[in-house]
Parts: sequence; C-alpha cells; structure tokens
Amino acid sequence: MSIADNLKHILATLPEYVTLVAVSKTKPAATILEAYDAGHKVFGENKVQELVEKYEQLPKDIEWHMIGHLQRNKVKYMAHFVHLIHGVDSFKTLKEINKQGAKHGRVIKCLLQARIAQEETKFGLTFEEIETILGSKEFQDLENIKIAGLMAMASFTDNEAQIRSEFSSLHSFYQKLNTQYPTLEVLSIGMSGDYQLALENGSTMIRVGSAIFGARNYN
Ligand SMILES: *Cc1c(COP(=O)(O)O)cnc(C)c1O
Repeated sequence: MSIADNLKHILATLPEYVTLVAVSKTKPAATILEAYDAGHKVFGENKVQELVEKYEQLPKDIEWHMIGHLQRNKVKYMAHFVHLIHGVDSFKTLKEINKQGAKHGRVIKCLLQARIAQEETKFGLTFEEIETILGSKEFQDLENIKIAGLMAMASFTDNEAQIRSEFSSLHSFYQKLNTQYPTLEVLSIGMSGDYQLALENGSTMIRVGSAIFGARNYN
C-alpha cells in the first residue's frame, strides 16, 4: 500500500479527538512530502539535527514534534519552531526549554515522559516525580513552557497483557492528575505495534512510523 493509503487506513480507525503523529525519522524529505501531499501535516522526529534539517527543507505549515530523548544542549536549535516536545524527563530540561522559549517569545508545549516499561533502559519519570514537578513553585514560575500532558512508551514485548497493564496504569494516573491540572490535554501513547491497545487506554495522540512509511533500516 502507498503512504497515502496507509494514512487513510489508520486515520479511518481513529476517534476524532486523537492526533496522529507520523513518525518520519530516517525517512528522506521526499517521502515526507508524499504524506504531506496526501494532506498530513503532523510529523515526529527523534533526533534534533534531523528535525532541524527537515524543518528547513519542507513546507512551513508542518507541525513538528520532537519525540526522542532530549539533550539539553540541543534545545536551542529547535526552540523557534518545534510544536510539541514529547520526551521531557527532568526539571533541568524544562528550565532550558523555558529559557529558549523566552528568547524566542514563545510558550513551548511539552509532555512529561513517564516511565511505565519494565526495562531498565527506558527513560522517564516516575509518577511521584511527575507530581513533584507539577506541584513545585519553581515549575510554576516557568512562563515560557506549558506542560500539555504525558508521554510514555510501553515495554518492547509481544505480551499484550503487559502492555495493556502499563498503559492502563498510566491512564489512571493521567486521569487523577487531570482533576488537579485540567490544562493537561494530551496522553501520547501508542506506536505502530501497540496503538490499538493505547487507544483502549485513553490515548489522545499516537506516534506511528513503520505502519505509515514501512520498515526502517535503523533506529
Ligand atoms: C520510532 C518511534 C516511534 C514510532 O515507532 P513505530 O514502531 O515505527 O511506529 C514512536 N515513538 C517514539 C518515541 C519513537 O522513537
């Protein structure tokens, strides 16, 4: 199937309130244009340098999402255009994003990355750490960022019950937070292999790469 067909197929299954971030990492600009020409405007990259190069080459009405792990010293390269930063996992990074947002007169939207997977290697904050950040005075003083919600990745496993339970515990936590912080509106969970399970567990934003663009050789 073509990229346009893949997009159409996925979008047809999504509730209206769910945003599809087309994950275009490792794919050339020409491939992204195929999706763009089919009407899609929301793309995600996991490396700042690649994100910046593609931003420069491609139409300016694209909404660019940074979905990968973020190095603080690279925030400055994307601060003038990035639409949403998904993987924020420390207060120091938030402070840097705030500083760069101020330089460009922007309020940069961010998601806090929650650690839900069993694997040791996954980045992210515990639920307790997320509550601590949101409740801190220091955080409330940051005027050039907005925490729009949470992002997470489930364990890399075929065990659906495990993925479901990880998503479900995150969803409960998200709902609890939401009563206290009604401005949270995004729950970014679900990739090509598990977005159906994510949708069953309150996802409002899925990040899908290979199911749209085909398999990647690396990353
Ligand atoms: C690569 C990536 C995705 C998309 O993965 P697919 O399995 O190709 O859909 C989603 N989220 C993050 C953080 C990624 O790095």
